[in-house]
Amino acid sequence: MSRALLSLGSNLGDRLAFLQSAVDAVRPAIVAVSSVYETKAWGVEDQPDFLNAVVLVDDPARDHWDWLRTGQAAEQAAERVRELRWGPRTLDVDIVTVDGVRSDDPRLLLPHPGTPERASVLIPWSEIEPDAVLPGHGPVTGLLAARPQDDRDSVRRTSLRLVL
Ligand code: ATP
Ligand code: CA
Ligand code: CA
Repeated sequence: MSRALLSLGSNLGDRLAFLQSAVDAVRPAIVAVSSVYETKAWGVEDQPDFLNAVVLVDDPARDHWDWLRTGQAAEQAAERVRELRWGPRTLDVDIVTVDGVRSDDPRLLLPHPGTPERASVLIPWSEIEPDAVLPGHGPVTGLLAARPQDDRDSVRRTSLRLVL
């Protein structure tokens, strides 16, 4: 173990460069990277749009805590300032799933609790893994089909590219 899906988001500064910095932080373990999507902010709506992408990684030597540490190190390197929950940030790395691990430890909830409602994760995830299943919730394509149309429409694929 372990294969993990990481969700990347940025809505401050050079958004693409911040997403790229997270990709660079996990490069040797990368299985697939999605397109880059532009997404209306979620939760706190009066803020700049996000760029979002997901990265599928696999590294038998790492467990779920290692993925959390790697993500948090990338956030710190992006000089993320923690002000407002769901507020603007240079880089957010959420650990969406790690294999079939279920965790209710608040430091690392698995699967990440927002996932079934977040088109900004479900759309890029289904792009790179069309048969993906969210543990405890079912196929990602089914979760996506259950989202309202305006929610799905708020996530637009861009021509921006992350470099592997
Ligand atoms: P959300 O988690 O709803 O997307 P957020 O990303 O804005 O909101 P953060 O401020 O980035 O929230 O994270 C707060 C805490 O969440 C972190 O201290 C981290 O330990 C914890 N956390 C719990 N589960 C996870 C997970 N699956 N991935 C990343 N962080 C997690
Ligand atoms: Ca988040
Ligand atoms: Ca987060």
